[in-house]
Parts: sequence; structure tokens; C-alpha cells
Amino acid sequence: MTPDRRFVCFGLAALLAGCGGGAPNPAPRTGAAPRPVPDAGYDAWVAAFRARAAARGISAATLDRAFADAGYLPEVIERDRNQTEFTRSLEDYLAIAASDERVARGREMLARHAALLNRIRDRYGVEPQIVTAIWGLESRYGARRGDIPVISATSTLAYDGRRGDFYESQLMAALGILQNGDTTPAVMTGSWAGAMGHTQFIPTSYEAYAVDFDGDGRRDIWSDDPADALASTAAYLKRSGWVTGQPWGGEVGSAAARSGTPLAILQPQVPGPKFAVFRNFQVIKRYNNSDSYALGIGHLSDRIAGGGPLVTPFGPDARGLTLEDRKEMQRALTARGFDTEGADGVIGSKTTAAISAYQQSAGLPVTGEPSAALLRRLRGS
Ligand code: CA
Repeated sequence: MTPDRRFVCFGLAALLAGCGGGAPNPAPRTGAAPRPVPDAGYDAWVAAFRARAAARGISAATLDRAFADAGYLPEVIERDRNQTEFTRSLEDYLAIAASDERVARGREMLARHAALLNRIRDRYGVEPQIVTAIWGLESRYGARRGDIPVISATSTLAYDGRRGDFYESQLMAALGILQNGDTTPAVMTGSWAGAMGHTQFIPTSYEAYAVDFDGDGRRDIWSDDPADALASTAAYLKRSGWVTGQPWGGEVGSAAARSGTPLAILQPQVPGPKFAVFRNFQVIKRYNNSDSYALGIGHLSDRIAGGGPLVTPFGPDARGLTLEDRKEMQRALTARGFDTEGADGVIGSKTTAAISAYQQSAGLPVTGEPSAALLRRLRGS
């Protein structure tokens, strides 16, 4: 999205790497949306902010409506402070971004929304599988649009001040959305950082790029109906220079990779696949400025369109385990009753917990760490 987008955790950014490196989801929040708590400093900040908003053309009526149920959300500050900066390996990133589940669901959504996606392609020139891949990574095809009230989230972060100017401009844009009548404060929810709807637009990106595709007079990216949100994403890519009919790139050796003169050859992880990338790869990075993100979108879109997995394997990880080894370990643990909740080969908190529980039950030192010795033991027993 805007150059600012990379400073904020969005759907995939949040999911893949904490944030910052282009990432997948934070652990999903459990329970109800956070409730505002009284904070005198916040109230004073809002009072002063109202004058600045009025000077920008936001009416008193809009401000009253927007702040009627809004307030200070400590949980949002906590999330902002706890952004981890670790970056996953490209192999892990792609395993999450183009997991079997996300590919299967993407194919289902591509078929279900074919008529809409074709109309979007006809108007904006962006291929259905690309729009679907962004939808899949940003909100799991609409399943995780975020339930945190945007006025509360952005005003809390603006008041907090760590990136005060950025969030005040997001808050100002969010108020403009309400004043324009596109949605209501109760419906305008999103991520803790104010990313909204099916494809996680921040308010300033909404202001610049959102479209009313179904023609009902409102640019509604929050509704269950994804039409406006998906068209807005295509509009964003088109305005960023999308080249219709050109692949984003492809694994070196593939037909797509040979279809033009690449801007660059990338090999983010060695050993591992090399990718030839074209102009559209750079356009995807305008949405989220990360090579991993753009490769994730590109590869997922290829898989959604019917393509197969990457041909070149990544090498063993730092523990000496290949992706297949890690999947085998997860399946073996799950078969023994230590549920890793899937076998994607990515070592996350559930796998670590399952390893610890297994080690405990077997009388081994509890490390939670995968290893070749652990895999041999699981194979042998
Ligand atoms: Ca609409």
C-alpha cells in the first residue's frame, strides 16, 4: 500500500514474521474484542485532536458519532510494543503462505467468485488469481478481517505517540470515511493497527484507492460481500502500474520465468529455488514492501490457478532437518497424541509444545527443540 504500510502489521505481515519482514498472522486473538478503559491523558488528547480535525473539515457531528463508543485500548499498545522483528526463512514463509489449506480454499474461492473476479479483471486488468491470493494472505479469504474498532485503535496509537503522526493521519482518514457515509463506527473494524476489511486497507489507502464496485453508493470493504474490497485491491495494483497478462515472475526454469526479460533473479535462501521476477513483482511490493510477501503472493496465485509446488527443494534447516523430516516429525508426534495441529513442516508454538509434552512423557530433557535425534527416536519407537 503506501510506503507506510510496511511499518504496520497487516494480515500476512502479522501472520508470517511478527512484522517488519513481511509476515503471516499474529496468534489469533481469542475472546471478545478489547474494551476501552478510562484514561485521562487520552481524553485530553482527543479534546485537542478535535480542533485539528475540525480544521481539516471533520464536522462536530461526525466527531461525536465517531468517539461516542471509542476509547483507549491498552491491548493495542501492547501489540504495538511486542512486534517481534524476527524473520522467517523463505521456505517457512512459503509453506504458510501457500499451505495446502490456503491453496485449496483459494481454488474454491476462485471458482465461487469467478463472475465477480472476471468483471474486476475486465475493469482493472488484474488477473483473478492475483486478487484471490492477496485476499487469501491478508484475511484468509475474508475469515479474519479484524474486529477491533478502527477509531479506538488509531486514536490510541496516535495518542501513544510512538508513530503518532502516522496514526493521526490514519485516524483523520478514518473520520473522513465515516463523514462520507461509507460505513458506521460500529462496522468500521480492523486489525489492531487499523488495517480494514477483506484485503486489509489502512484508512489512507482506502481514501486513495477504494472503489464502489457494486454501485450501491458506498465503498464497503467491511461487508461479507467481498466485491468492493477485491475491486479496490485491483484498483490499487492497477494504479501502481500492473501489467495485464504479464506473470509476476516464476521459478527459474519454468515457462513463466522464460516469458520475458527479468528485472532480477532472486535466491533469498541458499540452497533453494531461484526466481526470475518481472515488473508485476515490484507492483505487488507496493502493496507490502517485502520480497517474501511478493513471492508469497506470486507463488500462491500460481498454485490457485492450478500450478504445482516449486520444483527446487530448499536444503536442510539449521538443525539438519528437511521440510519432509519436519513434516514426518509432526505427523509422528500427532499420531502419539501430541497434537501439532497440522503437519506443514513449520516449527511454531504448537509443534514446540507438542515436542515438550512428548519429551516430558518419555522422560527426556524438555527442550521443545526439533532435532535429528528426536526424529530417529520417533521413527524407532
Ligand atoms: Ca458498494
